[in-house]
Amino acid sequence: MPWVPARAPQREWSGYTLAVTVNPAAIPAAQPGNQPVNPERDVRKNVEINLGKACNNRCVFCLDGLPKREDRSYMRFDQLQSELERFYADGYRSVGFLGGEPTTYPRIVDGVAAARALGFTRVAIATNATKLRLTHFTDRLLDAGLTRVTVSMHAHTADLEDRLTRVPGNFGKKVKALRYMHHKQQTQGHLRDGLSVNVVLNGWNYQHLPRMMRFFYQKLGLSDLRVNFIRPEGYAQGRAELTPRYGAVTPMLVKAILLNEHHFKRTFTFGGVPMCMLPPVLRGSERLLRKYMGEYRDLSTACSIRSGGGDVFAPGRQQGPRMTNTVVRFDAADQRARFNWQDRKRRDLKGQPAACAHCRLVDVCEGVWKGYLDIWGDREFSPVTD
Ligand code: SF4
Repeated sequence: MPWVPARAPQREWSGYTLAVTVNPAAIPAAQPGNQPVNPERDVRKNVEINLGKACNNRCVFCLDGLPKREDRSYMRFDQLQSELERFYADGYRSVGFLGGEPTTYPRIVDGVAAARALGFTRVAIATNATKLRLTHFTDRLLDAGLTRVTVSMHAHTADLEDRLTRVPGNFGKKVKALRYMHHKQQTQGHLRDGLSVNVVLNGWNYQHLPRMMRFFYQKLGLSDLRVNFIRPEGYAQGRAELTPRYGAVTPMLVKAILLNEHHFKRTFTFGGVPMCMLPPVLRGSERLLRKYMGEYRDLSTACSIRSGGGDVFAPGRQQGPRMTNTVVRFDAADQRARFNWQDRKRRDLKGQPAACAHCRLVDVCEGVWKGYLDIWGDREFSPVTD
């Protein structure tokens, strides 16, 4: 059955009128109702700033694939400062630094310090952590005021981790970094907003999820694990062996939730799974959804990424069946693209299977990654009517 882009562009986002009447330097406001309601959500507005797409890993599912030469260049520090000021003035109090790999940014420590000096109360990095094995470097980041680290790690064994990230020795470096940060968190009160491991759940690792939980929770002593279903773009585009069917993965997720409820009792969340693929007992429980489904817990997030404009086209326009832009504003003066992440997923990056037309959850569920629909089609999705 054919699938359609998630939620056709709405009035205020469609057409060139927007492009010429709206200040592209302004920060796009999040669309009302773009996240499930959760009174327990951290209410701080969050912005993720991409510092450059250069990376020291080559993960098999990397979204950036092989970044173009200009994309590998880093953001100038004065630009970073003005971007921080722009978002702070708009009420943002949480900031995350992204790459590529943000720890390779030459002034990452200064960036963290600048964010804290401005008044951001939550300052995070999303990192592969291989550089954080260098304890003197980690200390500098922590002393500058870093409050949260999310480590991309995708396996519980050296063989699998190094195959997925395609750098021999990565597993050992990450374990060393995690142990050190956990120690600093436990003994000196650093990382008050958390130390989390972020797993891309894919065809090579999903069957090991219970073993991964045991490894991260029990062996390393960590308390926060997030698994995100693979988004098949970049290197992973069209790769069925890396992109398992939801129907195969959800039983493992249910097992993981049961293990957590009855045994581990830590923070465990998942993201990127359409709600019709969850068992009724889970999607029917507001308590369980708020506890385990990432979309219920994530902060409302804006993104600011480097862009030469070539990959950003006018709002309301569509390039081919997959590429749509209904929410990204391109700021030519600053060479930045800015958008709200929840809107971007719902409106541009995810599609709606035909079943969604009759689904009771259409306003809560984000839909399905378009790259998944390209590989597997939409026959496995059924409307939720209960
Ligand atoms: S049918 Fe569509 S809206 Fe309903 S849960 Fe599935 S993907 Fe989401």
